[in-house]
Amino acid sequence: MALEITIERSAQLKQKPDENKLGFGQYYTDHMFILEYTEGKGWHSGRVVPYQNISLDPAAKVFHYGQTVFEGMKAYRTEDGIKLFRPKKNFERLNKSNARLSIPHLDEELAYEGLIKLLDVDREWVPSAEGTSLYIRPFIIATEPALGVNPSLNYLFMIIMSPVGAYYAEGVNPVKIHVESHFVRAVAGGVGEAKTAGNYAAGLNAQEEAKDRGYSQVLWLDGVHRKYIEEVGSMNVFFKINGVVVTPQLNGSILNGITRNSVITLLKHWDVPVEERRISIDELIEAHRNGQLEEAFGTGTAAVISPIGELSYNDEKYVINEGKTGELSSKIYDTITGIQKGTVEDPFGWLV
Ligand code: PMP
Repeated sequence: MALEITIERSAQLKQKPDENKLGFGQYYTDHMFILEYTEGKGWHSGRVVPYQNISLDPAAKVFHYGQTVFEGMKAYRTEDGIKLFRPKKNFERLNKSNARLSIPHLDEELAYEGLIKLLDVDREWVPSAEGTSLYIRPFIIATEPALGVNPSLNYLFMIIMSPVGAYYAEGVNPVKIHVESHFVRAVAGGVGEAKTAGNYAAGLNAQEEAKDRGYSQVLWLDGVHRKYIEEVGSMNVFFKINGVVVTPQLNGSILNGITRNSVITLLKHWDVPVEERRISIDELIEAHRNGQLEEAFGTGTAAVISPIGELSYNDEKYVINEGKTGELSSKIYDTITGIQKGTVEDPFGWLV
């Protein structure tokens, strides 16, 4: 059954921010998309409406039991119009998160159509300055006002959008990372693989402690053995060891990153050896001691590639590639951002 999406345009458009001072997630576009779920009726009443506050009962389940999921993706202004990078993957992943959080399956085509309508209405908000983009945040919250611990009967799916600045204003910059040995982010069997609020709340204290010590993010180790590498901040992580690129395998506790998948695809396309497997912090330190840890970088929608110039673990510091951006990291960054800008050939059909 095709569902009609209605459009209500804002009578008063906002003044757009200066494209050179956007930052991340500071400004929101004129409109948003809403879709409702009611038990027995399914998803309904899809609409693009003026960006506005929402009103919820204080007993809404999302506030108490964290039944919520989200996604993050970007739209880019290219010579050839406004483009999205592999958007269907985000809606696929949203449904995987839904399944884990007992949230009803969402028709991915309908969600995608809602996004396209919203983007069309707010097309003027896609910035054009170098490195800028329109960040898109689809999310679902449980709205049933009932304090029993069981899945909500009602939900809201919404999409909001925010013009964001260049992640690297002065060229790609390596970051210093603290290897977290006390806190863990997630465990296999838990919700680490889902993009859900609690994972991010659980990571805040370690992140703040790392910042206080001069590190920009933490490298998470697994919660069971406390030695296998998981992710770095809200990014997947890759290491180039003696010519081979290694990234933690999808094990149930890390996010199946779309940039991660794109990097693996690209490396295979270039015939660069790449392995998805368990990698322990001890193996990494050993490789560093032997001079074989050639490059390290995080991957994610926000930065695309974030080179790691230094790791700190148990009070020792390990400088990687003299603290500089590695050759392979640069090549991957230039290729993916080039595909996103439409200036590099896209052999995979990632841009839509
Ligand atoms: N891990 C976590 C925990 C994240 O929040 C993100 C950002 N979505 C990523 C990895 C990277 O995923 P993607 O490449 O799809 O942005």
